[in-house]
Amino acid sequence: MTTVTSKAFGTEASDQPLSELQIKRRELLAHDIEMDILYCGICHSDLHAVRNDWGGTEYPIVPGHEIVGKITSVGPHVTKFKIGDIAAIGCIVDSCNDCEYCNTDLEQFCDEGTTYSFGSADKISGGNTFGGFSQTYVCNEKYVLQMPDFKDLAAAAPLLCAGITVYSPLKHWQAGPGKKIGILGLGGLGHVAIKIAKAMDAEIVVFTTSEAKRQDAKRLGADDVVLSSDTAQMEKYTRSLHFILDTVSAKHDINTYLNLLRHDGSVIVVGLPPAPIEVGAFSIVSGRRSVSGSNIGGIAETQEMLAFCAQHNITADIELINIQQVNEAFERLDSGDIRYRFVIDMASLKN
Ligand code: NAP
Ligand code: ZN
Repeated sequence: MTTVTSKAFGTEASDQPLSELQIKRRELLAHDIEMDILYCGICHSDLHAVRNDWGGTEYPIVPGHEIVGKITSVGPHVTKFKIGDIAAIGCIVDSCNDCEYCNTDLEQFCDEGTTYSFGSADKISGGNTFGGFSQTYVCNEKYVLQMPDFKDLAAAAPLLCAGITVYSPLKHWQAGPGKKIGILGLGGLGHVAIKIAKAMDAEIVVFTTSEAKRQDAKRLGADDVVLSSDTAQMEKYTRSLHFILDTVSAKHDINTYLNLLRHDGSVIVVGLPPAPIEVGAFSIVSGRRSVSGSNIGGIAETQEMLAFCAQHNITADIELINIQQVNEAFERLDSGDIRYRFVIDMASLKN
């Protein structure tokens, strides 16, 4: 297959910093678009993957899955896009397109395995997919999102992962008027979750380990903020919440949160701590509670989420950086020193 070379930022090993490298993108197939990447958000999953937190990372790796760009080329059968359009790519770039899940807009659960925007086996070009820390992306238009008119395009990039990852469960578990919900962890996902749940008219309690984030949580839309290390504050919510969205990236005790649920409530895990989650039997049998999970969202739902966020004026609170600052940004993300999402200005890769 013919390929074109693109500049990117990635690494050859878990203990090596990210640096500039060359990657290959396929020449356009009939349904492909090519985009020049303008912005790419940094998700904690990028950090987990680069550091091999979950095991199984294959190197070299080029992370990045919150991608906004400008279409520079279209294959002959492309109908959704034209050259010059602003478009976006999230976590999913391919799937079998034929299974029960793909046929019902749940490509994230594809029977043959979803192809993610980086680090997945590339069924078309061979090797692994390379993500958005790069100049260009080539993708079948089916997996490319149309971008509504956001005032700040860079701040909209995190919606492509953080946005859909929280929108999908908030909708599925019916956040809305009369629902009292918890959001656990005020980071990239958590802060977007507050904004979206607020726009859905749910009552929101934020649980954080960081007292310093209290004012931010309120400003973002929380009705109450609980410092999770404060037992008295925690006990106030015993048996009171309809569900809790758990966005925490590291090991924590989920049983404490199960006890805050009403009957039939659920702690919905979206955070991906590397260690298994321990659930005490008494935490779930009492009140018929459950632990559940959710993985990003399908393409149609991602498009719906973008429309919802544009309509409600929701974007992420970001710190815009140049690609040359990416290693420092990873260190800061690791230590929780970001309010609340880094986004890379990909023009910096061309300099
Ligand atoms: P992030 O910005 O680093 O936010 C994580 C938050 O978790 C932190 O801000 C912190 O909030 C809290 N936290 C961190 N360490 C903690 C600890 N030891 N105990 C308790 N709380 C702790 O990360 P993110 O980008 O939002 O991603 C969050 C997680 O979701 C990651 O594991 C990521 O891989 C995963 N993820 C999953 C999906 C999916 O589809 N399921 C999609 C995207 C990301 P406070 O300071 O408020 O305590
Ligand atoms: Zn992500």
